[in-house]
Amino acid sequence: MNKIVIAIDGYSSCGKSTMAKQLAKKLNYIFIDSGAMYRAIALYFLNNNVNLADNNSVAAALNNIHLNFVYNEVEGKSDILLNNENVETAIREMRVSEYVSVVAAIEEVRTFAVAQQQQMGISKGIVMDGRDIGTTVFPNAELKIFVTADINTRVERRLKELHDKGNTAISFEEVKQNLISRDHIDSTRAISPLRQAEDAVLLDNTHLTREEQLNIVLNWVNERSSN
Ligand code: C5P
Repeated sequence: MNKIVIAIDGYSSCGKSTMAKQLAKKLNYIFIDSGAMYRAIALYFLNNNVNLADNNSVAAALNNIHLNFVYNEVEGKSDILLNNENVETAIREMRVSEYVSVVAAIEEVRTFAVAQQQQMGISKGIVMDGRDIGTTVFPNAELKIFVTADINTRVERRLKELHDKGNTAISFEEVKQNLISRDHIDSTRAISPLRQAEDAVLLDNTHLTREEQLNIVLNWVNERSSN
C-alpha cells in the first residue's frame, strides 16, 4: 500500500488527536499534533510578554523559537520541545488555552508554523491534525477528514482528559466557554480559518466509540492508499 498524507481538521476537543494517534500507530505513520506547535508559540509569547500588536516584536520572538518533537514511549506519541525544553504539560494549561487562538490568528505565526508542517509531510506517511491541514498545509492530501461532535460531548471529553491529568479545579462551564471561544476565533479569522475542505469527508463522532471511529477511518485509508 502506498503511504499517503492524512489531514484531520475540526473543532476543538473533537478527539482529532486521539484519532490521529490511533491511526499513526496502526499504519506506522508519523503523527503530528499541529495544535501543539501553536500552543508552544503561545506559551513562549506569554512567558516573554510579546506584544501581539507589534509586528517587529512578534517577528523577533519567532526568530528565537525552535520547535521539535520527541517520541514519548509511555504516551505513544511525540512531545513538543520548545527551545529544547519539553513543554507538553505546560502547553495544556488553561492560560495557554485561553491565549492560543489569538496568537494562531497572526499571519507571521501561521507562516512560521505552516512552513515547518509542510516540511514534515514531504515523505508522506504522516497524519497531522489541526484546523487548516486539509485547506492550507496539505491541500493535496490523499485523505482529508473533518471531525465534529456535539459541544457537550466535547466538553465532557476535555474535562475527563484534564481530570485524568490531575487538573480537577476547572469547571464544565469554563471548559465549554473556552471551546466555544476558540472555535469562534478559529472559524472567523482572516487567514486560514477553520473550515471543511471541499474534498474532506465529514465525521461526526458524537455517538461513536474510538474503535468504531477507527474502523470507519481505516476503510477510508484503504480506499485511498491502494491506487
Ligand atoms: O488542537 P488544539 O486544540 O490543541 O489547538 C490549539 C489552538 O491552536 C486552536 O484552538 C487553534 O487556535 C490553533 N490551531 C490552528 N491551526 C492548527 C492547529 C491549531 O490555528 N492547524
